[in-house]
Amino acid sequence: MSNNIKVIVAGPRGKMGTEALKLIEKEENLTLVACLDRKNGGKNVVEIDNLPNLDAPIFDDPEKCLSEIEADVLIDLTTPENGYKHTKLALEHGVRPVVGTTGFTPEQLEELKQLAEEKQIGAVIAPNFAVGAVLMMQFSKWAAKHFPNVEIIEKHHDQKLDAPSGTAIKTAELIREVRESHRQGHPNETENLAGARGADSDGMKIHSMRLPGLIAHQEVVFGGLGQTLTIKHDSHHRESFMSGVKLATEKVMHLEVLVYGLEHLLD
Ligand code: NAP
Repeated sequence: MSNNIKVIVAGPRGKMGTEALKLIEKEENLTLVACLDRKNGGKNVVEIDNLPNLDAPIFDDPEKCLSEIEADVLIDLTTPENGYKHTKLALEHGVRPVVGTTGFTPEQLEELKQLAEEKQIGAVIAPNFAVGAVLMMQFSKWAAKHFPNVEIIEKHHDQKLDAPSGTAIKTAELIREVRESHRQGHPNETENLAGARGADSDGMKIHSMRLPGLIAHQEVVFGGLGQTLTIKHDSHHRESFMSGVKLATEKVMHLEVLVYGLEHLLD
């Protein structure tokens, strides 16, 4: 385990960012050296209400932050557009990104992967940092070998910006590795209301539900002759993601490439 990892957090006032600050406050080997927050540039974290009592400067300019602050890791928990910019900038400044932000396009992921390789800097992008969710994805890949007909139902809080979730996309990608491509449902089926059958991913359907009261939940439902199998995971609190963030922050120190998905870091 690396001692004293110097961390910048982007998005500290967000629901996930605040949990990340609590994690850093609790863990002896992690030190907060700065935050990136577009609304509180020039202040200190200790001055901001509802944030842990950590002494670290806040920057609104990512370029200035990464040039002036000596850091090992940038934890990004912001929005797709800003997360992508921060990740690229961190790699250019030799700071290892640990990214929970979801919604990057395949082209952006590929570009970041190439940049990390070129700079020989470790990076972790994980659409889901909850260990239980990673297992749910792995179990789904296993089940898909035996049940090629599958639909994914993901449920999130109504403030989520991207759909389907990064976890649903990643699950479909893993299933695609073992499932022969085919269109599911009746060949002549029609939608009387657009979108009724959900999004199509290589013939599999993905359904996204957004409601207040939810955090992050997913069911992967497999259908076979006379039987169904449901693999389900629920994050009841954002704390559920933090052991994965800690693991990624420690492991990224020993990487020289970009790793996409927490499963690659688990034993
Ligand atoms: P949130 O509560 O809306 O927080 C996002 C934060 O990012 C807000 O505080 C926002 O600040 C800030 N932000 C936006 N643009 C910024 C910029 N240019 N510089 C600095 N900060 C900026 O959302 P959340 O629920 O915490 O989720 C954050 C991200 O993590 C989302 O992409 C979500 O899908 C993802 N997520 C990932 C996991 C995982 O396990 N990987 C789990 C849950 C969520 P303002 O208040 O100024 O808008």
